[in-house]
Amino acid sequence: MIELKQVSKWYGAVQVLNDCSAQIHKGEVVVVCGPSGSGKSTLIKTINALEPIQQGEIWVDSIPLHDPKTNLPKLRSRVGMVFQHFELFPHLSVTENLTLAQVKVLGRSLDEAKKHGLEYLERVGLIAHKDKFPGQLSGGQQQRVAIARALSMDPIVMLFDEPTSALDPEMVGEVLDVMVSLAKEGMTMVVVTHEMGFARKVSNRVIFMDVGGRILEDCSRDEFFGNPDARQPRTREFLDKIL
Ligand code: ATP
Ligand code: MG
Repeated sequence: MIELKQVSKWYGAVQVLNDCSAQIHKGEVVVVCGPSGSGKSTLIKTINALEPIQQGEIWVDSIPLHDPKTNLPKLRSRVGMVFQHFELFPHLSVTENLTLAQVKVLGRSLDEAKKHGLEYLERVGLIAHKDKFPGQLSGGQQQRVAIARALSMDPIVMLFDEPTSALDPEMVGEVLDVMVSLAKEGMTMVVVTHEMGFARKVSNRVIFMDVGGRILEDCSRDEFFGNPDARQPRTREFLDKIL
């Protein structure tokens, strides 16, 4: 469903993705981890073409992102993205946050968008907050609204970039619970996170990136956690620090 073929990217003279290749199949949950600055955010942003690449190919649902003829806004509407900082519109209510893109991008009627959005709000356990503004919600609640908003667009894949790392510790669980249930329902997910409990519980694969934007390892969850001795020294060093 997603294929990266020998993707390289530079910011000016600095190479931030170095010959990255990976495949993500439908229904897979792939965790991306690695040290700060290794290119994890950049990598997942290339999957919805928020970051252009200079070399290689990226295919999402058989659509070539690297092809200048591809309608990127249309493709982006089908790739859900949840960032570290919730990025809800602060001046819009929760319901308005949920409906805006459905109406503007997908052309749904407001009624249809509301019905759809509120179903997802219910699923993340926040229907009672539908008329509040983001500033009136906790960080964990805002992040769950951000997830509901992304799901309202009926994405074919969900990308998460450290969705819990800006949260107070007591709110991490409620967001991870939503992500775990999504994973169990078969959503295709690419998740940048250092929450190894999440990775162990629901991921199919773990990709480890190293400084310089290289994919150093791409292996099954059981390989990743099961036999640390078989891992690259850099991966082991990283795991030792965070586990
Ligand atoms: P972190 O764990 O801190 O979030 P990361 O693995 O997500 O790090 P990226 O944010 O993808 O890393 O950054 C990869 C490299 O690209 C870093 O060296 C960073 O300084 C550089 N970089 C990121 N964005 C830009 C930009 N807009 N212009 C120039 N360099 C950038
Ligand atoms: Mg990052």
